[in-house]
Amino acid sequence: MKPIDHAFHLASRAHQAEDTVIDLGPVSVGTTGLLIIAGPCAVESQDQIHTLARTVSCAGAHVLRGGLFKPRTSPYSFQGLGMQGLDMFEEAARANNLLTITEVLDLQHIDALHDHIDIFQVGSRNMQNFPLLKQLGQTQKPVLLKRGLSSTIEELLSAAEYILLEGNMKVILCERGIRTFQNDLRFTPDISAIPVIHRLSHLPVILDPSHSVGDRDTVLPIARAAVAAGADGIMVEVHPHPDRALSDGQQSLDPSLFVQLMRETERVARAVGRQIPAC
Ligand code: PEP
Ligand code: MN
Repeated sequence: MKPIDHAFHLASRAHQAEDTVIDLGPVSVGTTGLLIIAGPCAVESQDQIHTLARTVSCAGAHVLRGGLFKPRTSPYSFQGLGMQGLDMFEEAARANNLLTITEVLDLQHIDALHDHIDIFQVGSRNMQNFPLLKQLGQTQKPVLLKRGLSSTIEELLSAAEYILLEGNMKVILCERGIRTFQNDLRFTPDISAIPVIHRLSHLPVILDPSHSVGDRDTVLPIARAAVAAGADGIMVEVHPHPDRALSDGQQSLDPSLFVQLMRETERVARAVGRQIPAC
């Protein structure tokens, strides 16, 4: 076998020239249609998640996000409902024809959530949790792999390689902002990562404007910029009452701002030859 002299191989354009298209059932990611993932930072209550599922579905989202296990900077912050939130999350999504995505923090979460969740999310803080990546590689579920907050693009693609090497080729990459010297926003969205990743890799890449900026008023322009730069989708935090959210309220859109985001990104999508497919 030819020796591999790069940090990643299966993830590279050299290995596969054509874009990877991941079939999620009602929609695909990696084609001209954009994938829209929206929902709260965390599942908080039956009422909250059902309201949101209805809101984001009516506005045209495809996937409901909602953290059950929250990786919080402070151990005193809300840690998520855990498995107790799973039924309400799943029911809210199914009742509104939405797919589901939630973050796994631990190897045990993979088995526990496998039959209930459509896409596994690996958060920034776990981008290089290699046992977790390998175990996800042994499933055949799509994995959304978020870029570490201080990770290079090469490190992101090498992390994806751990999943691919185990046989799971359904990896969606996610830019979510990195640490830089600017401190006006929570992180700095690396818009340039989108074309760079598209050049280096065949894997789809989406952008999370919410965690990238940490500020609701900056989410819309960054979502538009991501789509203009060629992102294959976006993931956005929405809350029925952002000021009362148990986590990340400051960056959560209220329903009307989310509707506006959908309208604006749709227009940018059309300008660059893409569209937001109806489910
Ligand atoms: C999230 O999307 O819920 C999240 C915690 O994001 P990140 O891992 O990018 O901080
Ligand atoms: Mn969040």
